[in-house]
This record gives sequence, structure tokens and C-alpha cells, in this order.
Amino acid sequence: MNNFSDIIGNEQIIKSIRRVLKNKMISHAYIIAGEEGGGKKMLANAFAKTLLCETGGDEPCDQCISCRTFDGGNNPDIIYVHPVKTKGISVDDIREQVTSTVNIKPYNHRYKIYIMPNADTMTQQAQNALLKTLEEPPEYAVFFLLAENIYAFLPTIMSRCVLFNIKPVPAFKIKNYLLERKLADEQADMVAEYAQGSIGKAIRFAESEEFSAMRQKVIETLSGIKNAPYYVLTEAAKELAANNDAADITDMIYLWQRDVLAYKITEDKNCIIEKDMTDRIVDEARNNSYEALCGVPEFIMKTKKYLKQNVNSQFALEMLFINIKGELVNDRSSRS
Ligand SMILES: [Zn+2]
Repeated sequence: MNNFSDIIGNEQIIKSIRRVLKNKMISHAYIIAGEEGGGKKMLANAFAKTLLCETGGDEPCDQCISCRTFDGGNNPDIIYVHPVKTKGISVDDIREQVTSTVNIKPYNHRYKIYIMPNADTMTQQAQNALLKTLEEPPEYAVFFLLAENIYAFLPTIMSRCVLFNIKPVPAFKIKNYLLERKLADEQADMVAEYAQGSIGKAIRFAESEEFSAMRQKVIETLSGIKNAPYYVLTEAAKELAANNDAADITDMIYLWQRDVLAYKITEDKNCIIEKDMTDRIVDEARNNSYEALCGVPEFIMKTKKYLKQNVNSQFALEMLFINIKGELVNDRSSRS
């Protein structure tokens, strides 16, 4: 638990971190950047646990009191910074959880470590408050700022942090991981594709009972969407948004459209990822023109962007379904 060996992919970053640990060249602040579910927290945890481990090696020993309390969630020298009253991390959060505690020496270890998930939600005021600590940190303090969007940070924060960019894990590595966890081959293939490089998503999908229901609903809605009445699309958006993460649904829609387009171009069933849906995908490809299908991905990408800006999920999905239908109905290739 919380060891480098538990992390799938990102071997290059782990190698760099190990080098840092071996050479004892520890910086005071790191930004770990990457997509949601990409393993930012796992990496920060493994790094932090190793720093606190009493053996001082480049992998936690799992035996010492520090390692055991770390895994038990009660190591006093690790502090997770979270927003208390607001959605993002406020200046009060920084004052109460960082500034007021950082000068108290670590209880048992050489380091006192702060891990801040969603650090990119810090307000400007909060960042300025943190900056004061980062400018003159106590010798023992180490900060891990986890972020999806590094552009949210002030340049002055960026300049004081070492940046690690987490890369998406290749689908075949996710698949192998799922096979080790006893998932059937076909399902592992599909979940690995849906996960889009995120091991966190893959685990969530593999363990979720709602995943199959959501997928069924998405595919039902998309098959023959050109002829679907609007109220069906509205209802589908409502049902899907109520029970699931809209970003996951959008990824599913993307994979379906990708399969339809791939088959349209190649007429080769081997190009289809969602093998269990081959017949429906072939039908959809035959019933729509290449030009019309090519217009769809743009709407999916836009929806993904809107969702990141916190647009209402049901509304975003409904618009997406209506736009897909519109694109397929107003087939540009058939216009004279
Ligand atoms: Zn240890």
C-alpha cells in the first residue's frame, strides 16, 4: 500500500523520484500534475511515505512504525490540506492548516509533509498566503501540490516547485492490471479503453455495478439516434446525469463514435473496440455518411470542455445528444 510498486505506468517519473531520494536532494515543494484519476495522489503518497520511512531508502520498508502509521492513516507528520467551508482551497484553509502548523517541528521524522489535492482550486489569496511559506520554508517541510490544471498557479508558485507531469497509462498496461485482478479478457479490453489512460477510472469502472447499466443506456441512446424523438434524448440525458459522472458518459459516447467512424472508414470489424456491440456499430456506420459522422467529435470535445467549467451535467448531455442527432440528420454530404 502506498508504495512505488503499486503504481502502474509512469516509470520515468518514479525513476526520477528514486534518484532524488537516493541523492537526498529533496526540494521543499513539488507539483504533481495530471488528469483526474491519473494517480497523482498515489505518487505523492509513495513519495511521502518513503521520505518518512525510518530506513531512509528509496522504497518504503512497510515495517517501521512510520510506514505502518502512514498506511493506517495516522502518521502525525503527514497533513492533507482540504477546503473546509468553500469548494476551492481558501486563504483561511491555508492559514489554519498550513501557516499555523508549519513551524511546529515534526513529531518523529526528518520531514513534515503537506499533501494538497486539488491545489489548483486555491484562490489567488490562498496562493499568496502559501507563497510566504514556500519562500522561507522550515528545513523539514515538504509540500506536494496536486493539480489537473497547472495554469491556475501563480508564476511565483510555479517557480518554487519542481514539476512532475503524470502521463496517461497505455491501454495495454491497464488491461494487464485488470486481468491480474481477474477481469474477463473482453471486459478488461473495454474498461481499459474507457479509462483513457487513468488507472483510477479503470478501477472505478471495473468495480462499479452501475458501469454496465450506464453503458447500456448510452449505447441504446446512440444506436439510431438520427431517428430518435427529442423527448427520448431528453429523458436519456436526465436519467444518465442523475446516476453517473457526466465526464464518464462523455468518454463513453466518444468511444462509441470512434468505433462507428473507424468501421465506416475501414469496413473491418477488427477495428472495433466494443466488440460485444459490433452489430449495432456496423448498422450505425452503414446508416450514416462519413461526412456526417466526422462532424460529431467536435461536439463531444466541446461538451468535455463545458463540463470542466461546471456546466449543468444534464443540460450538457442533452445538448450533446441533440447536436449529434442534428449533425447526422443534416448530413452535409447529401446537401446539394
Ligand atoms: Zn519504513
